[in-house]
Amino acid sequence: MIKLTKYYPYEWIESPFVIDYGALYAMGVRGLIFDIDNTLVPHGAPCSSAVVELFARLHRLGFATLLLSNNSKTRVECFNTDLNAHIIYDAGKPSPQSVYKALDMMQLLPGQVVLIGDQIFTDICAANRATIPSILVRYIGHEKCEWKGFRRYLETLVLLTYKLRKKYQNRLFSVES
Ligand SMILES: [Mg+2]
Repeated sequence: MIKLTKYYPYEWIESPFVIDYGALYAMGVRGLIFDIDNTLVPHGAPCSSAVVELFARLHRLGFATLLLSNNSKTRVECFNTDLNAHIIYDAGKPSPQSVYKALDMMQLLPGQVVLIGDQIFTDICAANRATIPSILVRYIGHEKCEWKGFRRYLETLVLLTYKLRKKYQNRLFSVES
């Protein structure tokens, strides 16, 4: 039987822009690893002012940030121009190797870092393999592109099972907060 729990995030939150980062800091989190495409902007879209503001706020709060992308060097470097984050491109997620490298670059321990991404088969699986908590965010698409790939349907099915298994949900923030 396939073990679906390896695809389960610690939290499922609408958008990276509404996560309670202050609460994460208060619980000892010091590093944030972000996927780029469909997590912070639509696939291939340039960095937005909202993302620049978010990263500036995170740095003011005291977080180290890192962009972890399976996309190319050019894409990731260009996206980081105004962000001043650490970067890892061609990350090969869901391999956990790039997550270990991210911890190294930020000089942080697994318990001090959270990964934020839109895909359970790459982002969330890589985080689980590296034993770090993760937050799944809703896929940001291009407005006119409603086509969903086969993988997105599989994802929906796995997330249906996640929704039924309460003990895997809200593992970072309590439901009351
Ligand atoms: Mg993505």
